[in-house]
Amino acid sequence: MQWKSRKLARLLEPLNTLCAVSDKLYESPLSPFLVAGQVHRLPRYVFISPGWDGPYLRVGLFAAIHGDEIAGSHALVRLLQRWQENPDEVRGYELFVYPVCNPSGFDTGTRHNAQDLDLNREFWHDPPSGQPEVRALEQELSALQFDGIISLHADDTSEGLYGLVNGASLTRYVLEPALNAAERYLPRNHDASIDGFAAHNGIVMEPCPQCYRGVLSAPEESAPRPFEIVFETPQGAPLEAQIHAHMAAVHTMLETYRVMRSEAQNI
Ligand SMILES: [Zn+2]
Repeated sequence: MQWKSRKLARLLEPLNTLCAVSDKLYESPLSPFLVAGQVHRLPRYVFISPGWDGPYLRVGLFAAIHGDEIAGSHALVRLLQRWQENPDEVRGYELFVYPVCNPSGFDTGTRHNAQDLDLNREFWHDPPSGQPEVRALEQELSALQFDGIISLHADDTSEGLYGLVNGASLTRYVLEPALNAAERYLPRNHDASIDGFAAHNGIVMEPCPQCYRGVLSAPEESAPRPFEIVFETPQGAPLEAQIHAHMAAVHTMLETYRVMRSEAQNI
């Protein structure tokens, strides 16, 4: 795929050659759309680990819904490169990877999209949001019925790592070891309140639905509820440390969730 945006092209360049030769990694960007008169595309990659005959665990990985939070985007690109080399790391998974959910904001390095909207407040509105990125992602979230949804962010008001959990009750047990793993690179935020929510050891549990409206999440009717984690790095920290923290967190979440699911099946 030739990306019109030079910034996007540079980010995704290492994946182009991989996709051309891989039998595990596929590139399938969403249909093009217009934002403020400009054509944009939302990149999507699918990684299917080989040699698995059970049902796959299907997880969606999302980054840069806020266009200036780029550490997660780099982390997802590097993880795809690593999984291509070591597919056993994600054995049993079918991963849908969206490294840049806000392409116009990513281009200009802004949180909002080119319509000056925070896309992470636009999901599942009634009537639906007019933002094409949101409509396209909602369609993915509805159609693919993920077992897990991981959103990567960076917070310029936090000095440490933290995460928000939602959905399935096992979710906090997926996040806890991921925070531990990411702490090799950056400190955890131990504040009792983060972003206005009560927190414990860097975990924000069940933020009230009214104050947490419109974020990228599974459709309300999904059953069973997937695990849903928003993972945040401190945006003021060095980019490379944030990238490593995101990579360690995602890797650990996937490993932990796979073990939990297989244990649940053996009960
Ligand atoms: Zn964010």
